[in-house]
Amino acid sequence: MQPTIFHKIIAGEIPADIVYDTDEVLGFKDIHPQAPTHILFIAKLEKDFVSSIIDITDQTAHVPTKLIQAAKDFASEKGITGYQLKFHCGKDGGQEVFFLHLHFLSQQSL
Ligand code: AMP
Repeated sequence: MQPTIFHKIIAGEIPADIVYDTDEVLGFKDIHPQAPTHILFIAKLEKDFVSSIIDITDQTAHVPTKLIQAAKDFASEKGITGYQLKFHCGKDGGQEVFFLHLHFLSQQSL
């Protein structure tokens, strides 16, 4: 499999505006924001890699929860009280980058 743009962000090969970073999850600003705050959350560990919700298996079923927990912690840290969380699932669901990511959208600014 070819590395995606998000693999390259984790590897530090291309820049990203990182706003959340733990051992397991990275959050960075979407390059084409659809809301005043638009963050993408991805899992950093190789064992947690899955391309899409559509490809989740028993081994990776915990990953969406990890991303949701990170988004919730991020909102709490930043004092954001309302937001939307979205997964684009598959090409027909509008997914363009095949590295599972959670969109965090809020009308509240950082
Ligand atoms: P999706 O349609 O769910 O696959 O969304 C992929 C998202 O990644 C889009 O909202 C893009 O704007 C965003 N994106 C693509 N390349 C980058 C990048 N280098 N840095 C930040 N966001 C990106």
